Amino acid sequence: MNREEPGARPDPLNRRFPAVGKGLWGHVADSDWNDWHWQLRHRIASLESLETVLKLTPEEREGVVWSGRHLALAITPYFFNLIDREDPDCPIRRQVVPRVEETIPAAWEMIDPCGEDEHMPVPGLVHRYPDRVLFLVTDRCATYCRYCTRSRVVSGVGELHLHTEFDRAIEYVRQHTEVRDVLLSGGDPLLFTDEKLEHILAQLRAIPHVEFLRIGTRIPVFLPQRITPELCAMLKKYHPLWMSIHMNHPREATAEVREACGRLADAGIPLGNQSVLLRGVNDAAPVMKELMHRLLMMRVRPYYIYQCDLVKGTHHLRISVRRGIEIMEALRGHTTGYAVPQYVIDAPGGGGKVPIGPQYVLAHDKQRVILRNYEGQVFEYPETDVCLAPAHERAG
Ligand SMILES: *Cc1c(COP(=O)(O)O)cnc(C)c1O
Repeated sequence: MNREEPGARPDPLNRRFPAVGKGLWGHVADSDWNDWHWQLRHRIASLESLETVLKLTPEEREGVVWSGRHLALAITPYFFNLIDREDPDCPIRRQVVPRVEETIPAAWEMIDPCGEDEHMPVPGLVHRYPDRVLFLVTDRCATYCRYCTRSRVVSGVGELHLHTEFDRAIEYVRQHTEVRDVLLSGGDPLLFTDEKLEHILAQLRAIPHVEFLRIGTRIPVFLPQRITPELCAMLKKYHPLWMSIHMNHPREATAEVREACGRLADAGIPLGNQSVLLRGVNDAAPVMKELMHRLLMMRVRPYYIYQCDLVKGTHHLRISVRRGIEIMEALRGHTTGYAVPQYVIDAPGGGGKVPIGPQYVLAHDKQRVILRNYEGQVFEYPETDVCLAPAHERAG
């Protein structure tokens, strides 16, 4: 990879983004490797195929056997190459290789942790907030994250099935003039062919009150080959269209992903990133900071860091909210403001996203706000009523 346009200026950041390349698939033709259909057809999706490329621990082996009835195993060859096969605690491996702990739900974990199924006026359409909807267009992904918030419906082997009613969902948006923002998610919408995705986008864009379209996807990270010039040319017809990608560890920020994000950004698509706080993946401030810096270098604005939802069988991947707040505290003020996302908990049972983070307001009354900064220094800011008092009434 690392292709440079003839005559283009050299990119000094290039060397910071190593290409993953073909790795274990060195024998495969470049044209196959770079073909997203080839990547999907050759996913590692069975115990047999995983064991040919990775020495599994007993915990993983049992997890894989179990996954076939709950949340399928699937890993694209491209993403598999990011795994350090010598390291059983590899942060990439922990995200995608099933473990036996998935079979042991904690008492407070839930099938539908964010209460989405109760907020679906039409199957596949979640209408929780007044002005925007979440449109679940597919139950399939290129690779399955073991902590998936929708594992109940995603991958086709779990407890429930997603039966999105496309015509009714689009009609609902048409009828509900208060919906100004439609978020396509799933599963991963970018698994659709360009034609199928365009058909949905075109219908939504034709609705006058729909101001804002966005796509939530991990395809740029799992399958950057999918981000073709043709896809970008199609998406760009439906502006304003934004995209949220999902990256959890700095090692996911490869040359391939940077190029894919570059193509999307060049098509005018503002990119945001959502990360999930995960034990052994990104639960250390320096790792998170490095991830945020790499995102900025890829023209991706960190948007949310999620506390891991209370999905059944994710206890082993969760860290405490206290740790999460400490990590946020290590970002704010210590790095570029653009590199600081909002830390949120998606309220269990369906209250929507609630922002959480370190407290910088130490006291607040009618006269003043007492603040502390990122270094712990304390400041006072007068409240507006005091500022607005006529000059002769002010002390001094
Ligand atoms: C996350 C989410 C949205 C989008 O929320 P924003 O904070 O606007 O990004 C919309 N609907 C549902 C049901 C969601 O979970």
